Amino acid sequence: RPTQYQFKLVLLGESAVGKSSLVLRFVKDKFDEYKESTIGAAFLTKTLTLESEDKVKFEIWDTAGQERYKSLAPMYYRNANCAIVVYDITQAASFQRAQTWIEELKKQAESDILILLAGNKMDLEDRRTVSSVEGSTFAAKNGLLFSETSAKDATNTFTMFQNLAIKLAET
Ligand code: GDP
Ligand code: MG
Repeated sequence: RPTQYQFKLVLLGESAVGKSSLVLRFVKDKFDEYKESTIGAAFLTKTLTLESEDKVKFEIWDTAGQERYKSLAPMYYRNANCAIVVYDITQAASFQRAQTWIEELKKQAESDILILLAGNKMDLEDRRTVSSVEGSTFAAKNGLLFSETSAKDATNTFTMFQNLAIKLAET
């Protein structure tokens, strides 16, 4: 019999790195160039069916990246099963911020939280300032999953969420 899993997922990362766009691509397979920024946090759900026929329901908390909402973040990552920490490959400062989020998660979130580091906007290759190696090296050193994605052209976006679902269902 197929198993039904349910996991709480939180997205963290600096403002404008594409957190909401990744969620919109995953949940509705859409992209919106002029998306209004998130206020507080948005809640969405999406269920995936794995090859094993097991179902994985994600309860997604898409947080606002602005500093003024920073103190709210623990409400969303507390008892989360997994976190996607997003940076923009064209903004080195957003990669620094992602590293700070990861430190905070390691200190404050559940000790078994599964963390995925995502370098988004890989369609903007000509403006890249964070190399793939920098991203993957940081992820490997910190025991994180790693993906580079584009919410805009959909590269790796479904795969990223699917890999997360497979990993979560394994544990
Ligand atoms: P958030 O603040 O992290 O939720 O970021 P948003 O999802 O609101 O996206 C911020 C801006 O970046 C918007 O103008 C998006 O259209 C744009 N954006 C998001 N993802 C991508 C991407 O993969 N590629 C490109 N080129 N732009 C993106
Ligand atoms: Mg947003």
